[in-house]
Amino acid sequence: MSTRVAEAQAARPSRGAAACRSCGDDGLRVFLSLGELPLPDALLRPDELDGPEPRFPLDVAFCPGCSLVQILEEVPPEQLFVDNYLYFSSFSEGLMRHSRAFAERMIAERSLDERSLVVEIASNDGYLLRNFAERGIPVLGIDPAPEQARAAEAAGVPTVREFFDAGLAQRLMTEGKRADLIVANNVMAHTPTLNSFVEGLSTLLADGGLATIENTYVKDLIDHCEFDTIYHEHFCYFSCSAVDALVRRHGLALVDVEHFPSLQGGTLRWHVAHGTAVSESARAWLEAEREQGLTDFAYYERFGERVDGIRASLLELLRSRRAAGRSIAAYGAAAKGSTLVNFAGIGPDLVDFVVDRNVHKHGLHMPGTHLPIRDVGALLEEQPDDVLLLAWNYLDEVRGQQEEFVRRGGRFIVPVPEPQVV
Ligand code: ZN
Repeated sequence: MSTRVAEAQAARPSRGAAACRSCGDDGLRVFLSLGELPLPDALLRPDELDGPEPRFPLDVAFCPGCSLVQILEEVPPEQLFVDNYLYFSSFSEGLMRHSRAFAERMIAERSLDERSLVVEIASNDGYLLRNFAERGIPVLGIDPAPEQARAAEAAGVPTVREFFDAGLAQRLMTEGKRADLIVANNVMAHTPTLNSFVEGLSTLLADGGLATIENTYVKDLIDHCEFDTIYHEHFCYFSCSAVDALVRRHGLALVDVEHFPSLQGGTLRWHVAHGTAVSESARAWLEAEREQGLTDFAYYERFGERVDGIRASLLELLRSRRAAGRSIAAYGAAAKGSTLVNFAGIGPDLVDFVVDRNVHKHGLHMPGTHLPIRDVGALLEEQPDDVLLLAWNYLDEVRGQQEEFVRRGGRFIVPVPEPQVV
């Protein structure tokens, strides 16, 4: 056990979540401590660079009661997702394709039509629901982020500007709304009140309806050492075993599981419906997880050492290339990039600037390390020798967009699961 992990375990009862967010077990066991990091999406304007920046510990623990992996610290969601929240789903082409394919399949399989209702939780700018709306299927988005909700409504997606929980589900139900399909993609990890969230799914779901939940898969995170997907916005990291225990508590059952190995570093889509009958395919997933050890602490225990190893070799790689006179930029000013540069201590001594496709971020600075954020066009204007790909989950997409940069001799450095130049 590293010193940081030991200290985090010792400090555990005095702060943050004292008990498991799902089952309430108070025997949480810390296996990774990333230290004290700034909020990953708290980008700074130039005039804010000299001001104070709050930092919060980032310690990750396993629950022996229900296998749920979770961080201990709890930053209020209002602070995390509304102020400074600049993520617009429609900036990712891969996500748009994934969403369209899903919508087309659901429309066919679930025979959705103008009498149906499709609800998405964390509907962002309407990137998914507009695929249903375009086919005349009634939709309802739920998202508290004001800019994104405005964009969604402009795209024809009515949006309730609130956080989803059991209370909101109850209210929507009394207004006569029951959903034939509820989609909750990359949101369950963001909710500190998991039981209220899942109770809400159960309430809002029509009889015979289907809810699909997507989130990164904790097994991919651990196996591929994707520690930079751990940040304050992600309270929980799910396995099928943890999801099974969670949904079961609210009268729902796992009816299917799909794996997308290359989506966000490895994503699972859990299909859940009212009832108690876990499908055979879902049962096979649960059995496999038990055999692989995902329900035991030992599986997670050495993760911290592996993460320290990646940090050391990444810093060595960057320093040696810098020492050889190479200029280095970075790609991807999102939360995972912030975790990586702040945990590893990658500042202006190693990287000159970060580029991002999101125009809302240009001219701002990364939290903590204060690297300036520029438009991706800067890669061709400045032609740095290397680009540290913080958004490594978009390697193929970025390489496709940056053919000219590569043709001129530019190289990409991919940080995980092992730092390498590609
Ligand atoms: Zn638990």
